[in-house]
Amino acid sequence: MPFVRTYRDFNATSPLRPPARAAVLDALDCVGNPSSVHFEGRWARRVLEDARGGISNLVNASPRQVIFTSGATEANTTVIGQKRWVGIAATGVEHPSVLEAARRHGSGFTQLPVDRDGRVSIEAVKAWLSTSDDGERLVCLQWGNNETGVLQPVAEVAEIVAEAGGALHVDAVQAVGRVPIDMADCPISFLTLSSHKIGGPQGVGALVLGPRGDLHRPLLVGGGQEHWLRAGTENVAGVAGFAAAAVCALSEISDAARLCALRDRLEEGLASVTPEAVVLGKDVQRLVNTTSFGLAGFRAETLVIAFDLVGVALSAGSACSSGKVGRSHVLGAMAVDEDIAQSTLRVSLGWSSSEDDVSRFLEAWAKVTQRDRATAKVA
Ligand code: PMP
Repeated sequence: MPFVRTYRDFNATSPLRPPARAAVLDALDCVGNPSSVHFEGRWARRVLEDARGGISNLVNASPRQVIFTSGATEANTTVIGQKRWVGIAATGVEHPSVLEAARRHGSGFTQLPVDRDGRVSIEAVKAWLSTSDDGERLVCLQWGNNETGVLQPVAEVAEIVAEAGGALHVDAVQAVGRVPIDMADCPISFLTLSSHKIGGPQGVGALVLGPRGDLHRPLLVGGGQEHWLRAGTENVAGVAGFAAAAVCALSEISDAARLCALRDRLEEGLASVTPEAVVLGKDVQRLVNTTSFGLAGFRAETLVIAFDLVGVALSAGSACSSGKVGRSHVLGAMAVDEDIAQSTLRVSLGWSSSEDDVSRFLEAWAKVTQRDRATAKVA
């Protein structure tokens, strides 16, 4: 890279942790297919099953509840694509992999309202569950939002859904490793995880099945892997890296105070340079690593480029979808004012972030907003 860069986009992808990198490289030496019965196959199988144990520990589940996938998008699609749902409800702030799959399902899709901070309306969940009892219903609720970091009342909704006999799917991609998740303590039917959000390699994830979370139909067919629930040779090196990252992430949950202090310092600095900046979800529970803010009169795309030029990597809203520029559906569902929505940036910190990173961000923020006021401002 041409000059020193600081990376503040952990919610898009966390940099690969050194132990995860080492685990991937070790596992690449595994020559066997985990379905083969010979020594090499059994070696690969051992790596795979050890990784399954590591991922189950991360969310206090048992290894047999874990199905490895190619990432969170596949895990979400697998659950939502089950034919048996007679209705699917999801908030408008879910990841597009949830919303698109729900809209394409043949049964009716209901968008659950959220408040101005992006939290689901409990009353709306109850009302939707009580409208009919003609079959099994699925509620989809993310644990923490990828753009704003706002946390949902998952435990409360899980109880309500279980009582009504429905199933709850929780996309925990951004929350896992940042808040404690205990599958044994919460009646979640399906939980989605992704390796690259916790410092593992990209292209690998998991679906964790809760007691009410039986899958009737695999998304991928043609092989008996993952207990016949997901066909295809497993990504042995990928899951090894995922599990190594999970061990680190789990031990760092206690480090949340450090990240929270960094984020708070960043937000205080932001307020002193630009008091008119609006931080989204500031007064509700959020992921400690995430801050999302807008400054009326600016355009987020212009700001992202200006930051990039001074060596700072951050996102306009969500960076998950290639090259996508446009209004964030998350901010739309939250009814964020247009001038704030079109200027909103997301800074997401993680395991390698430091005080220095925050200082460099604040220096860049002062430079970019003042020097570039004329060019970044909306015409
Ligand atoms: N859900 C959420 C909340 C996410 O942030 C993302 C990634 N941006 C996904 C799902 C999709 O994850 P993956 O890249 O593993 O498919």
